[in-house]
Amino acid sequence: MKTLLAATLLLTNLAAANAATLSEEAKLVFVSASRVNNSYGGFGGIPGGSGLGTTPSCRLLGNILSLSLDKSVALADDPSRHQKDMKSRVEEVFRSAFMREITGRVANVRRLAYPNISDEDARTIYVLTHDCTLDAVGTGPAVMPIKGNGAFKATYHGKTVPWVLVMSDAAWGKIDGFVSPHSMKYHVPEDVLAHELTHGMTADLLTDANIKRSNDQKTSKVGHDVNRVSDGSIAFWEGLAEGVEATVGETLKGAFAYPFSMDPGVYGFLLERQSPVRNNKMAFDEKGLPRTGGDLVKAEGFVATFIFKLLSRLPYTLSNGITIRGWPFMEVARLIHDQQPTNARELIVAVLNAPNGGEKASEEFLRLSGLATYSREARALSVSTIKARQAFYEISDKLHDAASPDQLAVEYAKRLAEKNALEKQWAEKSEQWAKEALAGARGNILRLAY
Ligand SMILES: [Zn+2]
Repeated sequence: MKTLLAATLLLTNLAAANAATLSEEAKLVFVSASRVNNSYGGFGGIPGGSGLGTTPSCRLLGNILSLSLDKSVALADDPSRHQKDMKSRVEEVFRSAFMREITGRVANVRRLAYPNISDEDARTIYVLTHDCTLDAVGTGPAVMPIKGNGAFKATYHGKTVPWVLVMSDAAWGKIDGFVSPHSMKYHVPEDVLAHELTHGMTADLLTDANIKRSNDQKTSKVGHDVNRVSDGSIAFWEGLAEGVEATVGETLKGAFAYPFSMDPGVYGFLLERQSPVRNNKMAFDEKGLPRTGGDLVKAEGFVATFIFKLLSRLPYTLSNGITIRGWPFMEVARLIHDQQPTNARELIVAVLNAPNGGEKASEEFLRLSGLATYSREARALSVSTIKARQAFYEISDKLHDAASPDQLAVEYAKRLAEKNALEKQWAEKSEQWAKEALAGARGNILRLAY
């Protein structure tokens, strides 16, 4: 009897755990510009505008978008053909099993955020297809969560809608448009939709006041990109979306990287950005040196890495005591809903303090950050170690190419010894510092992050 009860409980709990990932078909409502009243509030998925809007090319895009929303201005060479194509492609993508899982999350998040919501409203996603190909400007789709931003309320048939997915298409140079056969083949639309829908869900989970509080913290003018250090608010919104993107992208297409190559300083947001996120590359600056603690909580790519590890690798103990690999998405959603973080630092602290997995997440955070948010001494040692490693690689290359290698042998031995000594020191000390950090209050792990 006891065994039977245990087995029944186990099944019930597993069913509950799976409920969060059950496929659910979204109800897509395509809206035209005339039906969305003054909805344009920014660009790039953050209510009220994001850092993207501050770069000249994107400000231009913002103007084009808002203009066409008001007047349905046709900017493409053949807008009617393109619009039709866009709609059918969007529908096609949403029908995939993969997207059904993502839209199932949207529905579950809404049920959490709005307890009295009808089933139909939970599943409804408003999509504004945008009839232009912006060959000269070069950017793609966006979500427009307008919830909480009074000036940019959207209504549909007299009803206020929480957010609108804006599907504009773009081709730039060698980069294909969003719904080109090439992009479809490489699942670009799924990546982008997972990203944008995460923005929408984040907006659903936060109260209006906290969305405003988050917006008010935006101070950066450098814009948004996976490799940028901007501010805690952008790092929060974009880090979450890019972390989800890296997680679902891994399931969808493994370690595949897009065959694109562009100047990352300007158009990096169109580059394949999932591999650097998965490999924790954004904890380091362009010289390969560890970022400071203060910069790490403003680096969306680093926040994305932490979210990626959380959702795909880190252990989470369910209420029945079973530990699974990778936190259920809905547990992260619940944390955001309950703790209302408005910047990356608050999000990370909420995760580190979580009762069912916060301890392992703290260990991982210390590892990913190289303890740079915890200790200046740790970061200094980490910088010296990496510099010694770089110097060693340099002499190794020289030696490899040298006509008479013997002349370099002494320096080679010296650099090797330096590198080994520092690596040994780092291994010992970082372990000791990590233990010390974990013994204290977990919020202290971010004491140098501001
Ligand atoms: Zn975004």
